[in-house]
Amino acid sequence: MLCFSSPAILLKRTDFGDYDLIISFLSFNRGKISVIAKNAKKSRKRFSGLLEPFTELDIVVRTSRNNGMPVLQEVSMKSPLADIHGGLIETAYASYWAELILGWIEAFQPQPEIYRLLRYSLNKLDRHAASPHVMNVIFQARFLHLTGFAPHLESCVTCGIPVDNMQSSRLFFDLAKGGIVCDGCSAEESRFRTTISKGTAKFLSWIQSYDTDAAMRLRFDDRSLNEARRILEAFVPHHLGRMPKSLKFLKDLR
Ligand SMILES: [Zn+2]
Repeated sequence: MLCFSSPAILLKRTDFGDYDLIISFLSFNRGKISVIAKNAKKSRKRFSGLLEPFTELDIVVRTSRNNGMPVLQEVSMKSPLADIHGGLIETAYASYWAELILGWIEAFQPQPEIYRLLRYSLNKLDRHAASPHVMNVIFQARFLHLTGFAPHLESCVTCGIPVDNMQSSRLFFDLAKGGIVCDGCSAEESRFRTTISKGTAKFLSWIQSYDTDAAMRLRFDDRSLNEARRILEAFVPHHLGRMPKSLKFLKDLR
């Protein structure tokens, strides 16, 4: 029997039979993990009622040698993030971020930067310290950067000409090619093409490359923010290969 402990953020809870729950965590030490919480469905007291989505816990997990599902042994509270549970819009954003992490990253690969990004973003939501719309643009841009899927925004994806050398103030953005294409390379029609202003392209590129705190200090004007949101919320489903359920819900909610 092997045990490990780690700080972990609860992403998803699923019923498993009459007594148990399957819990998916983003853990700091082991990355994304799914564990079985025995008797947690039958009795909330078993884990002191702490198994709530988006709470940050210290967890102790037992792993078996025969590749069975790891078993949750103990939990204690690190940060409740209680206000997220009270707000529909906060819950919708947090659910979207959780779904991106669940759908995108590999299990058992520690992702400390993504862990910090999620904890930071949830804390801002919880304390109402930032607009959820701003936080959502930053979360998506930083998440794509940290997973290596960031859209290419500094130059043409095909020929490499820098955005600064492009004449037009509105640029083509090709979802399938993963970034900006210049006028010369955009001759063939593409149903994956949209447009982005040069200003928004620069703004998004800064958010991707700055750390999260520095990105938060950027000034967000509504036009760039809305355009960045439109690009990211088209880019994410295209590269994930499906529309996240929580993103659809978020769009309906708006
Ligand atoms: Zn080009």
